Amino acid sequence: MTMAASGHDLLKTVPSGDLLIGGERVHDTTAGAREQLDPSTGGRLATVSLAGPSEIDTAVQSARDAQEEWLGLSPAQRRDVILRFAQLLDDCHEEMSILRSLELGAPLKKRRGANMAVEYMRYFAGWVDKLEGSTIPVHPGLALDYTVPEPYGTVAAITPWNGGVVSAAMKAIPALVAGNTVVVKPAELAVLSLLRFGELGLAAGLPPGALNIVPGAADAGQALVTHPGVDKISFTGGGATAREVLRGAATNLTPVILELGGKSASIVFEDADIDTAVATTVGLALATMSGQGCVLPTRLVAQDTVYDAVEQRVVEAASSLVVGRAFDEGVQIGPVITEAACEHIIGEVEAAVSRGDGRLLTGGARLGGDLADGFFVEPTVFGSVDNSSPIARTEIFGPVLSLIRFGDEAEALSIANDSPYGLGGLVFTRDVARAHRVAGRLQAGSVGVNAFAPMPASAPFGGVKQSGYGREGGLAGVEEFLRPKNVYVDLSGP
Ligand code: ADP
Repeated sequence: MTMAASGHDLLKTVPSGDLLIGGERVHDTTAGAREQLDPSTGGRLATVSLAGPSEIDTAVQSARDAQEEWLGLSPAQRRDVILRFAQLLDDCHEEMSILRSLELGAPLKKRRGANMAVEYMRYFAGWVDKLEGSTIPVHPGLALDYTVPEPYGTVAAITPWNGGVVSAAMKAIPALVAGNTVVVKPAELAVLSLLRFGELGLAAGLPPGALNIVPGAADAGQALVTHPGVDKISFTGGGATAREVLRGAATNLTPVILELGGKSASIVFEDADIDTAVATTVGLALATMSGQGCVLPTRLVAQDTVYDAVEQRVVEAASSLVVGRAFDEGVQIGPVITEAACEHIIGEVEAAVSRGDGRLLTGGARLGGDLADGFFVEPTVFGSVDNSSPIARTEIFGPVLSLIRFGDEAEALSIANDSPYGLGGLVFTRDVARAHRVAGRLQAGSVGVNAFAPMPASAPFGGVKQSGYGREGGLAGVEEFLRPKNVYVDLSGP
């Protein structure tokens, strides 16, 4: 494996770790600063400022102040600002990809079209001038009754470190499109690309304060969700944090949408194209973001007639994945985000082994040697897992896949649905009727048949059960940030 230039060398400008409030960079904050680390090397990446309650308060005020100017633009002008914003992000594709690889350790990929955030932004921009109300027949008559879709006001978007710019785009852009202004609070672990995103918004013509980016820790998150100036909260993160968010939001009865964790099942029937099923599931559960994604299928549920063949191929595929630093050539899996995450994942694996949750087929250890300084976990697969065991029920947030057997369709569904979560699901079969039947009965917000649903911008994304509520993407994702006002006009004459 040849070493590529380090990510730092590839960047033309030094990324800023300052907050973005009211269109200004804010360096000195009440919560101080932290060192952001490079997960590939464990080395220092940048010093980033953190928002405390005081900066959160200023950011919310800035957002409130900016709303009049934002709504003062015509819908066509607002559409064009968002389109310009998308174009600027697209133009910075290389810089943003490098930043992402630096902060998250995700292997740098060759460009294949516009990235997901850009696609979301262009899609949402198209809605700005199409958000219509309706006329309502009312009784008694001689009245005109109509609805006007109105923005909430100020939206708080709390994003996790793994979501990066995509998560911010899925929340902040539809909120802006609906006429709100926004405070984005990214998780403090990876903030550089988010701060750059905010700068591009400003350069595109967003009024200063319409989009504030205030990285911070839990205290900043709480200050935001309890703030009386916040009118709607969109949160992505873990279930325990979501409960804190709901408790905080109860202070002012602020409405919340939640996008939480998952333990999605990939169901492989005996008539499936096994190669596709294995490649897709392994590629997602182990290789994508080193398994650190809420929607990834971390349970592979295979029919017993093909189980052994599936298991063999999964182990082959998992053990041949190339793990390494984000900028090294040929790397397919990068590190996990922190030392603590690494220890947590290894701890979960060791506990599963000692409990006998299943047979450890490959992986399970931290990588040493050349990679000892980074946070690397071997792609890990457990076979013959009992769905009731912790390894099959807990969201590990790392490259760990559980293989589970089923007999018939009913059992496949009962295993897949026997989970506290319900974010995604995959079905691999050549039987069209079965594909639709299973898709219909899966308790999940989105289902992919014979392929992963690539979260297209035009489709709604979200969960059921403890994976959350509310939708991002599609028209549903815009409507989350609007509420209809009803106007009744008495038309009766003298
Ligand atoms: P994950 O489990 O994916 O790492 P978390 O649920 O810990 O994500 O965090 C998601 C987001 O919620 C982050 O921006 C984090 O800073 C924020 N957060 C953490 N604790 C709280 C809290 N008590 N109130 C509000 N936000 C919080």
